[in-house]
Amino acid sequence: MKRRAFCAAGVAALAAATLPCRRLLAATDGELAATGLDGRQLNLKPSELGELRAALRGALLTADAAGYDTARRLWNPAFDHKPALIARCAGAADVMHAVSFAAAHGLLTAVRGGGHSLSGQSGCDGGLVVDVSSMRGVRVDPLARRARVESGVLLGEFDREAQAFGLATTAGTAADTGVAGLTLGGGVGRIGRKYGLSCDNLTAVDVVTADGRFARTSATENPDLFWALRGGGGNFGVVTSFEYRLHAVGPMLFGGTIDYPFAQAHQVLRGFSEFIAGAPDELYVDVALQPGAGGQRIVEFDVCYCGPPARAQDVVAPLRKLGKPLQDRLAPAPYVKLQGATDAPQVNDNAAYIKGGLIRDISPALVAALVDHFDSTPLPSGMVVFQHQGGAIARVAPNATAYWNRKALYNLMVLALWKVPGDGAAANTQWVRAGWDKLEHFTDGYYVNLSEQDQHERRVHAAYGDNYPRLAALKKRYDPANLFRLNANIKPA
Ligand SMILES: Cc1cc2nc3c(=O)[nH]c(=O)nc-3n(C[C@H](O)[C@H](O)[C@H](O)COP(=O)(O)OP(=O)(O)OC[C@H]3O[C@@H](n4cnc5c(N)ncnc54)[C@H](O)[C@@H]3O)c2cc1C
Repeated sequence: MKRRAFCAAGVAALAAATLPCRRLLAATDGELAATGLDGRQLNLKPSELGELRAALRGALLTADAAGYDTARRLWNPAFDHKPALIARCAGAADVMHAVSFAAAHGLLTAVRGGGHSLSGQSGCDGGLVVDVSSMRGVRVDPLARRARVESGVLLGEFDREAQAFGLATTAGTAADTGVAGLTLGGGVGRIGRKYGLSCDNLTAVDVVTADGRFARTSATENPDLFWALRGGGGNFGVVTSFEYRLHAVGPMLFGGTIDYPFAQAHQVLRGFSEFIAGAPDELYVDVALQPGAGGQRIVEFDVCYCGPPARAQDVVAPLRKLGKPLQDRLAPAPYVKLQGATDAPQVNDNAAYIKGGLIRDISPALVAALVDHFDSTPLPSGMVVFQHQGGAIARVAPNATAYWNRKALYNLMVLALWKVPGDGAAANTQWVRAGWDKLEHFTDGYYVNLSEQDQHERRVHAAYGDNYPRLAALKKRYDPANLFRLNANIKPA
């Protein structure tokens, strides 16, 4: 999903939909009040905290520590979690200590990589955050076409390292998203139709399981866990590093955006739907119905073509004839630029609320329903986004990895943004929910990385499909107490 789309919307000034922060009773004798897995208050002794602090190479932050407020901040400021403890892990050993501590005390535990969880689940109130965001090493082996990437790395960092050798693997479309959460839930991006999901490109994963033990996983080492980590989200442990297969990509590709006025939406989307059904794997096109720069609504196509440069103009030609474009910025461009990896880092002060589901085609009925929703209840910050899938993603068997929903052509998302602090939460969430009520019946399955705070079992089961029973059995084996529950949660069975 596009960072541009997220950031371009002229958003209303409204308030954060902060979750109610659990009020902890003050603990006595220097003890630290914390929240247990069952929601009850725990009191952690100074000696226990001291032992953990001494064991870590990174810092252990409590609410009074310098850096605590920065460390607890997530991409989505709708969530203002206040954890009791943040373990800023410097390496796998720190992760092992932090997880062992959490398991021994039965502490509510969140795991944070890039912090881009849309539902704020990489933070928690009163619990422990195992924070790997300082673990930022990337090593590219250009001859073997492999990269070892620590779990705190952001997509733009990975892209830049790999592109120095003319290599890349599938990554999401916003450069400041973390590799960890994205890859564990699947990982959809501009070259995914050609090379598969991010998780399809994993050759090995190092993980610390709920008992605090380190495990290397691959096709030959702990293969069942390796299977579960490719699409099973954060359910099975804290990943410390990933090993990816790389491909020759660019560095110059062809892409950019082309915009049409919203008044042409019906015609443009219908024509697009026919065209995209037969598109080559090398062509990736996201679609957004969104506010444009001048405030008027537009239909924007965000394009990336990773095939032979000489063919690019012919391949995208039909996109230019869908109607009368407002703007056409399709041109040769470096892959890192299309990925936004060269953009300056931004602080996100827009809260976001999103609902999404997978679709197999953009039917005329769907087009009519979403244009109607956009038209009848215009909201300056509201948008509908389609993220492109299919191609190589669809050719992997649904049970080959934990990622089940292989047949989707698009991930359909309705979202809204609003400035915080402000009072926009109610109007924006209401707009998204009303749209979703009209659109959800067009969907078939959900993307784990769009998990919601209050997960409905129905959604979780539809995300994992027939892989759910195997995942639940593995969850019981590797995390019987459900320590890792702040995710699209698989219940141990
Ligand atoms: C602006 C934006 C653009 C996006 N674009 C795309 C896109 O193009 N393609 C796409 O596929 N998705 C996209 N997403 C969704 C994204 O994949 C998820 O939000 C993902 O969880 C982000 O990963 P993170 O590490 O940044 O998140 P975090 O918030 O750090 O973590 C999210 C969850 O991942 C798990 N997790 C994180 N780190 C670890 C770890 N080391 N070990 C085990 N579990 C861990 C935890 O369950 C955690 O709750 C986008 C999200 C945003 C906000």
